[in-house]
Amino acid sequence: MENQNQTVTIVDDIIAISHSDHKKFGCINCGCKNGSVSFSTPGERAWNCAQCGRGFVIRASGVEKPLISVVLDGQEIYPELKPHPRQGTPAHALEKGPDGDKVLTVQGIGLYMVPGCFVCGGGMALLPGIAITVHLKPTIETVIRLFEDKGVRTYPGDASKLKDMKGRVTVGACFKHMTNLKCLMESIKAANTIRKGMIEEARK
Ligand SMILES: [Zn+2]
Ligand SMILES: [Zn+2]
Repeated sequence: MENQNQTVTIVDDIIAISHSDHKKFGCINCGCKNGSVSFSTPGERAWNCAQCGRGFVIRASGVEKPLISVVLDGQEIYPELKPHPRQGTPAHALEKGPDGDKVLTVQGIGLYMVPGCFVCGGGMALLPGIAITVHLKPTIETVIRLFEDKGVRTYPGDASKLKDMKGRVTVGACFKHMTNLKCLMESIKAANTIRKGMIEEARK
């Protein structure tokens, strides 16, 4: 029974909304209408908000058997279709602040196709994760190397397509290591850079 309760909490956290709700009300957290797709199947999209980074699933009407699942706690969870949490508040466009001299930008926790968790590894799966946009040096390749190939990849996955001075790295975490991921996210934000020691600290 305990297990079941836990599952409910997780599904509550990673939800699916209807396509029409997304058009009207935008992101489930901040209402922004802009974002990007990290994974899709016919009628479904794993979506990450451009403003706050929050990940959720958008499902078209008529999808009877959802195919997008998120691996949490070793289990495949099919996010449940929920009414939009910001029902009634119209969606707004991205409010973008200047990047200024930022080296890295990191947003909130989204959903990404990643090669496992940055702490305990695992196979390719749709997992909660963060996207780190690298504006200046260190280059993408340097950032990837810092993680020693665990739970990290370039986004959308092909490093050769990225200019070496700017691009995105996604870092995944399993449910057990969400706290570690949050810790890493906070230290990157605070330092405006990423160092090996920060990753080591976050893996503890
Ligand atoms: Zn948002
Ligand atoms: Zn893990």
